[in-house]
Amino acid sequence: MIDMKTPSLIQLDSCEGGGQMLRTALTLAMVTGQPFRMTNIRGKRRKPGLMRQHLTCVKAACEISSGVADGAEPGSTELVFRAGKVNPGCYEFAIGTAGSTGLLLQTLLPALWLAGGPSTLRLTGGTHNPLAPPFDFLDRSFLPAMARMGARAELCLIETGFAPTGGGIIECRIDPTPAFTPFHLTDHGSVKSTRIRVPFRSLPNSIADRVLAAACEAFPCEDAAVVELSAGPGQGVACLVEAEFEHSTEMACTFGEMNVSAEKVGRRAGKMIHDFTQTGAAIGRNLADQLLLPIALAGEGSFTTMKPDEHVPTNVSVIEAFLPLRFQIAPAKGGLWSVCLP
Ligand code: AMP
Repeated sequence: MIDMKTPSLIQLDSCEGGGQMLRTALTLAMVTGQPFRMTNIRGKRRKPGLMRQHLTCVKAACEISSGVADGAEPGSTELVFRAGKVNPGCYEFAIGTAGSTGLLLQTLLPALWLAGGPSTLRLTGGTHNPLAPPFDFLDRSFLPAMARMGARAELCLIETGFAPTGGGIIECRIDPTPAFTPFHLTDHGSVKSTRIRVPFRSLPNSIADRVLAAACEAFPCEDAAVVELSAGPGQGVACLVEAEFEHSTEMACTFGEMNVSAEKVGRRAGKMIHDFTQTGAAIGRNLADQLLLPIALAGEGSFTTMKPDEHVPTNVSVIEAFLPLRFQIAPAKGGLWSVCLP
């Protein structure tokens, strides 16, 4: 049991949520200077507690903000974190497993954007992981949305790292911004372009070809190609299906898995984007939970999305514990949902 009796310590229980609750709390602790205690970390996940990728987020947050953490050990379900001043600069962090570099990046970005000077990050781990934003999603969907909020960063894929091997590398150059501007988007607008890419490594070409054919069948698209990656760590295949709209870009990403046919992998990603284009929602389900924190820091924003998954309420609960604001999240016309602040 960690005993740190500080009246201003924000108490958070993360029993209902995943690693995002921890990452959001780390970010907000750095941006607002408020310390927190989190209990029941990843309480209902298959392997509860802090895993290597979460520990790297904690370690990285400590390093960029001269912060201190208590309870940062593998498997720990309780953590206290206090940030100091965030220092812009050049940092390198290696997760040491295939843990997602994208999630680590998203933890650090808001604090570094607001730190008053430029920064660069070099992160090693997984770049194309299930259940996390892959490099391409960050580059083509998340960062352009952030640019609409006045926060700019340039992202570069140095090496692709598939799960479970990892070994991928991303680099990011972060331009400082004094504040985030409000984000308002009611619909995605008309389609500007569509694209399917199937990057693969150390697998027969025929697997990638079958993934691509199935994706094209579910979401017909002329700009479609398999991309054989040069020799590197591990093996894998991803299916990245993208629709660039007037106001936002949505991307679905699925991965080859043992005992799942190549056709199923391609069809799933194609269908996700096909279905999304029919909804007219401003942004997709994943981007929706990822924009809550920047919108909260902007103090104002609104968008339509698809029926949110559990990440939205759990993320909102952490944000509202740090900041004096209330999101309004409700069903809207045409089966959409609207997210609104204030
Ligand atoms: P957690 O499950 O709490 O570790 O959070 C996972 C985060 O990854 C959430 O912000 C999800 O929106 C995001 N995420 C999961 N899958 C994808 C995907 N295919 N594309 C983009 N973001 C994703």
